[in-house]
Amino acid sequence: MSQLPPCPKCNSEFTYEDGVQLVCPECAHEWTEAEQAEAEAEKVIRDANGNELQDGDTITVIKDLKVKGSSAVVKVGTKVKNIRLVDGDHDIDCKIDGIGPMKLKSEFVKKA
Ligand SMILES: [Zn+2]
Repeated sequence: MSQLPPCPKCNSEFTYEDGVQLVCPECAHEWTEAEQAEAEAEKVIRDANGNELQDGDTITVIKDLKVKGSSAVVKVGTKVKNIRLVDGDHDIDCKIDGIGPMKLKSEFVKKA
């Protein structure tokens, strides 16, 4: 018997296959294994050292970063508190003291 993954919504272990879909009998959630793998892959955002980042983390900038549309620069070593992970090329949303709301790339930061 193949082991099916638990329901990503309610964690029920009573999931069953219906064609290509997986179905949860407890919360009626339907999904495919491909969708689930994609969702899980997207969740992990790593810093320059390969450490996993999470919402609310404090990070340090490891490279001078120009702020788009201004002459300001976020200097190496700038600490940024309470980051929020987002989708996209710039995957960190945050607010930097003295500069304001900004988006950063996870490859240019490390977890503090
Ligand atoms: Zn469920």
